[in-house]
Amino acid sequence: MAEIPTNDIFDVIIIGAGIMGSCAAYEVAKLNKKVLLLEQFDLLHFLGSSHGESRTIRATYPEPYYPPMVIESAVLWEAAQSAAGYRVLTPTTQLDLGPSHCLSLQSAIRNCSPDSLPATIYDSNPTEITGAFHLPDGWIALSTPLGGIIKPTKAVAMFQSLALRLGTVIRDRAVVDAIDRIADVGIRVSTTDGRIFHGAKVVVTAGAWTHKLVKMVTGRDLPIQPLHTLIWYWKIKDGFESEMSPAAGFPTFASYGLPYVYGTPAMEFPGLIKVALHAGWPCDPDSRDWTMDGDGMVGRVAEWIERLMPGRIETASGPVIKQTCMYSMTPDEDFVIDFLGGEFGKDVVVAGGFSGHGFKMGPLVGKMVAEMVIDGEVRTAARIGLDMRVFGLGRFEGGKQGNAKDFGEQVESHVGQS
Ligand SMILES: Cc1cc2nc3c(=O)[nH]c(=O)nc-3n(C[C@H](O)[C@H](O)[C@H](O)COP(=O)(O)OP(=O)(O)OC[C@H]3O[C@@H](n4cnc5c(N)ncnc54)[C@H](O)[C@@H]3O)c2cc1C
Repeated sequence: MAEIPTNDIFDVIIIGAGIMGSCAAYEVAKLNKKVLLLEQFDLLHFLGSSHGESRTIRATYPEPYYPPMVIESAVLWEAAQSAAGYRVLTPTTQLDLGPSHCLSLQSAIRNCSPDSLPATIYDSNPTEITGAFHLPDGWIALSTPLGGIIKPTKAVAMFQSLALRLGTVIRDRAVVDAIDRIADVGIRVSTTDGRIFHGAKVVVTAGAWTHKLVKMVTGRDLPIQPLHTLIWYWKIKDGFESEMSPAAGFPTFASYGLPYVYGTPAMEFPGLIKVALHAGWPCDPDSRDWTMDGDGMVGRVAEWIERLMPGRIETASGPVIKQTCMYSMTPDEDFVIDFLGGEFGKDVVVAGGFSGHGFKMGPLVGKMVAEMVIDGEVRTAARIGLDMRVFGLGRFEGGKQGNAKDFGEQVESHVGQS
């Protein structure tokens, strides 16, 4: 057998340079390992899930395992920004609101704690909160201090440049089409243009392509469904722009129940505010229809705005900027972070299925993945009281739909609609 050029041998090869792969590359490189980060498109492209103008931070979750992860991630975001010397996130408070009978909102309130996540509850009707929001009869709201807006493309670039500084090799326009175990060498990763790399360990952070890549390599069907999603920016009526800014204390927000609506303060585009639906419809990431209007979705958000923020936003003519993105949905909306198993055992880790809420936890996911490939276990999980089985592939065995929850789903999947 021909000798393998040492330039092409790495400790860890990471496939997919979105937020998860870029954070993982930085964390593995911090452990003095030789890292290769491969990306199928141009770096910082707009075709996956980690691009655009904003992602929100919130530590309020109906599942008890996410708040400690978001709190831990906040520390890692700060550390990365310090290392880079510039900021990618703007802190705000977070406002969650919804009908008082909504089980997921009740559960999110229960998961707040005076020590780690203090919450202020609003339950009087009707109530004006933070200026713009009008709480309908029968609704409640909670305000928590840990919110914020991340600039996603800038954040991905930050982690890539931090990883580069530590010697990581990054190759874009590198479409991985095979991952094989080679006896006495390790794992071989091949690309469609004939390049071959070897790594002791491999990490798959392929976002909406995770199902396709894992199926191609192992024949195994992971329950990760890509959804085509939309983001809308609306014009703020004259006179209200400044009070809806982060500087004026306007929060990031999430409205529970149906429709599940979320948004950010006016920041990314002067005079505009992002208000969008936590929803989408199944797509093939390689052949999307790029539609900008879901079936009645715009109208549902406009109705929500008129009810919750009456008189503040121009809704009659619809959103003025529309953007597309993709979610990678699991049936229980929880992440997949696990060893691939089978012939790859603990040498290949898959981190996907972030179900439309993973960005804020990217730095922690990167750290957990680094611990998995280097140590074979997630030390950080034990420290923050996290049982990694909630993210394990074992929860889907025997046709199971994953982690059981006593509240309804958060993301609406509009099967067959567009
Ligand atoms: C509209 C929208 C709003 C969101 N809002 C929030 C929010 O407010 N807060 C929050 O926390 N999260 C939010 N999310 C979710 C968050 O953005 C995602 O969870 C996160 O970006 C997923 O990152 P990723 O690295 O897994 O996927 P991606 O960013 O898609 O990265 C995967 C990469 O792998 C590459 N790849 C795939 N296959 C191959 C291959 N064969 N070879 C080489 N490369 C390959 C892809 O090209 C891609 O670049 C939102 C998502 C969307 C779409």
